[in-house]
Amino acid sequence: MSDCLFCKIIAGDIPAEKLYDDDDVIAFRDISPQAPQHFLVIPKKHIINLSDMTEGDDALVGKMMRVAAQVADEYGIKEGYRTVINNGADSGQLVFHLHMHVLGGRPMGWPPG
Ligand code: 5GP
Ligand code: ZN
Repeated sequence: MSDCLFCKIIAGDIPAEKLYDDDDVIAFRDISPQAPQHFLVIPKKHIINLSDMTEGDDALVGKMMRVAAQVADEYGIKEGYRTVINNGADSGQLVFHLHMHVLGGRPMGWPPG
């Protein structure tokens, strides 16, 4: 998707601090961190959000979760982190390419805002 910010990060057209990269998924630091550790895990395939997922994406989205845990472990927040997927404008989704936020390094409140 030529007009998608995260597709541009995947293509290398916009720089990002990548923490993980393989054929299916990348993880990179959020540009506006909301916790001492805050990174995003995204599929390389342009999927808008969970509502845009099909059954064929099950393994890909499962992999996003495993990679999130692996990177969280690598960056020292294994003892506790929050994962968030905003879906749709009402949730606060601003970038319409599926992404999982991973936040850690501070206590997390509940319920989330
Ligand atoms: P959303 O609100 O869609 O769930 O989250 C989008 C996230 O993308 C926000 O946390 C925002 O800070 C992050 N973001 C927006 N633009 C960029 C960018 O150019 N680079 C990086 N690394 N993160 C970005
Ligand atoms: Zn995209």
